[in-house]
Parts: sequence; C-alpha cells; structure tokens
Amino acid sequence: MTRSVVTRFAPSPTGYLHIGGARTALYNLLYARHRNGKFLLRIEDTDQSRHIEDAVTAIRDGLLWLGIEWDEEHRQSAARQKHQAEAERLVAEGKAYRCYTTPEEMTAIKASHPKRRAVSPFRPAAGTSASTTQAADTQTGSYVIRLITPEHGHTTLDDLVQGAVTLNNEDIDDFVLLRSDGTPTYMHAVVVDDNASGVTTIIRGDDHLVNGVKHQLLYEALGYALPEFAHIPLIHAEDGTKLSKRHGAVGIEQFQAQGYLPEAIVNWLMRMGWGYGDREMFSLADASALFAIADVGKSPARLDYAKLNSFNCHYIRERLGHDRLSLVALVRQHTADAVSDEQIDAALELITPRHQTINGIGDEITSLYTKPPTFPLAEPKAAKAFEEFLPLASKVTATFHDIPADEWNAETIKGRLHLLATSEADGKFGKVARPIRAALLGRMDSPDLAQSMALLGKEVSVTLLESASRASKVA
Ligand code: GLU
Repeated sequence: MTRSVVTRFAPSPTGYLHIGGARTALYNLLYARHRNGKFLLRIEDTDQSRHIEDAVTAIRDGLLWLGIEWDEEHRQSAARQKHQAEAERLVAEGKAYRCYTTPEEMTAIKASHPKRRAVSPFRPAAGTSASTTQAADTQTGSYVIRLITPEHGHTTLDDLVQGAVTLNNEDIDDFVLLRSDGTPTYMHAVVVDDNASGVTTIIRGDDHLVNGVKHQLLYEALGYALPEFAHIPLIHAEDGTKLSKRHGAVGIEQFQAQGYLPEAIVNWLMRMGWGYGDREMFSLADASALFAIADVGKSPARLDYAKLNSFNCHYIRERLGHDRLSLVALVRQHTADAVSDEQIDAALELITPRHQTINGIGDEITSLYTKPPTFPLAEPKAAKAFEEFLPLASKVTATFHDIPADEWNAETIKGRLHLLATSEADGKFGKVARPIRAALLGRMDSPDLAQSMALLGKEVSVTLLESASRASKVA
C-alpha cells in the first residue's frame, strides 16, 4: 500500500521568514495539496537556548500572510526524549557508540590523517557485538553518541531534482547523533522527527544535499522507511551570486513592508524554479492542481525584481476589479491618517496604474490630499512651468470658481481647461494645463490634472488656486 503523502517545512527559528524558506514551504504545500496529502510545520528549536517565541511568530505570521497554511504544527524540542531513546537504541543494537573523545582530540586525529576520515578510538572494532561494546564501555565522563557509518563503498541518494548523488563512504564520518548535554544534533533529530510524523517527501534547499545522502545511513540504521528527497536549488541574487542580506530584502516581512501583495510574492516564488509551459500567472489553487517535482529545474533561480513588480501590478489591478475593499484596506495602511477611506477609494483608479507597490500608491494619495504645494516650488520643472501662471491666475481662478458645486467632475473640469486653452493660449492645451498643474499639484509628474481636481473637490481646488495666485504675484 502506498503511504499517503506528508510533506513538511522545518525552519530553524532565526528571527524572520527568509524568501528561500518561504519558497521551500510553498513547494512542500503545493506538493502535498496536489496529492491530497498533509503539510506540516516543524519548528526546529533544539539548538535554541534563548527565547525564541518572537522568531517563531515571525515565521508563522510570514507563512500565514502568504496564505501558506499547515495542517499540523510540531516543535522539535518536544521530542527530546524520543531523540535520546532512539540514539540509545542504536547503541544497544551495536549501530552507534558512546564516544568520550573531546572535540580537541577529534580535531587532532583529523589533523594527523588529513586524507582519511577521522575515526574515534571508541568506535567498536568491526565484528564486535553490541554486548561486548557495552561491556568495554567502562569509561566515565561526558560523551557523545556517534553513528557507526560504513568505512568503504559508497552511498547514493536518488534525488527527485538532482538525480543520483553519490558520496564515498570514506568521506562520511561517524557523525554525532546526541551531544554530551543530551541534545540531539540536526542530523539525528530531523530523521527521527520526519519518521515519527510519517513524512514521505522531503523538499528542501540543496544546501542540505550532502546531509540528505548521510541521512540515508541513519534511516537504514534506525530501520525506518526511506522518504523521497527533492533538494531544490537555492535562490540566487540578481547578479547570480549567493543571496545574502547585502542584496537587500531577504525576509518576507520586508517585502510586505515595501508594499508587495502576498499573491504577487507567492506567484513570484512559485516561478523561481518551477514552471508549467510558458504560463506565468498562478494562484495557489492553480499551482496546487498542476505542481509536479519533475517540473522543478536544476539550476538556481535568480531574484528578478522586474518580474515581481509586474506580478504586483497585475494583482493590484485584479484586486481593483474584484476585491476593492481589501485594496482600500491595504492602501489605508500606507496612507496618512488624515485621508479618509472614501478619499482612498475615490482615488484608486487614478493612482494605482501609476505605481508598482501599495506603498507608492499610499504615498501619492497622501501627497494628493494632504500635501499642497509650497512656494517657491522645489521641483525645477514645476517652478519653470509656474512662471507662466501669473498671467493666467485670475482668469483660471474665476473659471473654476464659477463651476456649480454639483457639476464639479473631471469631465466639466476638462471642458473648462479646453475653453481656457482656446481663450488664453490659441488652443494649446499644454500651455494652460502645465502652469495650472504646477500651481495645484506642485510636481510635473503628477496624475491627470482634471481628475486630480475632481478628487480634491471644488473648495480645495479653488483655495489652492487662490494661494498659488498670491504666490505667483510675490515671485
Ligand atoms: N532546520 C533546517 C533548516 O532550516 C531544516 C532542514 C530540513 O528541512 O531538513 O535548514
């Protein structure tokens, strides 16, 4: 009978959810969903002496924000006794041994045979039975428990992404399972836990590929069924080098703070290593239906910010069309308090196409409603255009003052701008629109003039024109 699929994401609580980790979690989720299996979150907290709850919260929050939901959550530290018992069982079965050699002594052994693996003097000689090993074990003091690994031959991992990966057994030490303080190593805990949770498929970064080969020896010693392994290439920076903090944002919460939508990040992460024909856009549900490890590539994906921005624009547009309320709520988080939800809502069509992130949208909405131009204008192009405002000032102010309040809309305003162009500038629209834009918005790279005026309302627009008129006289 085939086992039902169980995958897991097993982060060490380092303080934040790394984008590489988020992609690993995502692939595990997609794999499990595609096969109607279970997806587990296991916090690998055995090495942590300090308080880690904040770090765990950061990981959970990051995953939930992305929509990556797990079916069960485990803490590695909760299985401490099991880790110890399994290591002791291997000692009793003659498959592992207590090693009293200090780390310094092991280093010295290694140094004296740099070409060979370092063999502990406590490793039982071949053919020694478990009982003689234990009888000989009269040593006292602190010890670690090491796995007896084969001295000759080789060990091969059939990886779903990397293919067959072989290590010479001469290059594999008798690795430590339990430290002298009784805590398990990553090597041991991960195998015991994955087996205990019935994990069938391990998808993780290929920085663990060599570990994966070695883990197999432990699976065999413990008598556990071997899971499938898929070691996915790490994500590289745009310049092709290994991703690090010097490349900018690497934590999911940084992308969140920069105004990226979770669905854009998820789509971006999905496409970093996995593909389905030349299709680019996938929701979580789409990808769950289509995901296969066979479609995960072997070469490292690179962070492509242009692609992220285009995904973000796509999903901002999608929310504008189908989930406007959620878009208002998001923009709200990046907009000054003085701006009302109604004002945000009214400005969305005008402002969203001009930006790639929610932050950009929020900032421009804040400027529009709460930051009237201050004179003299700081932006040189706007200051230049404003020089043409003085001769138009009173005519322009009177024209807009005369529009009845209930006819104040973009269409009427545009009509009046055209009339002004005809009467004041031989029909040259830009000749009137540019100085008015400078007067009202203070920046030349600003949203459509008539629509901005419509949003600001008659009273504000006329007041702004009046103060600009005064400023133009002073200049
Ligand atoms: N805690 C390990 C890490 O964060 C887990 C590796 C694994 O998935 O086995 O790298």
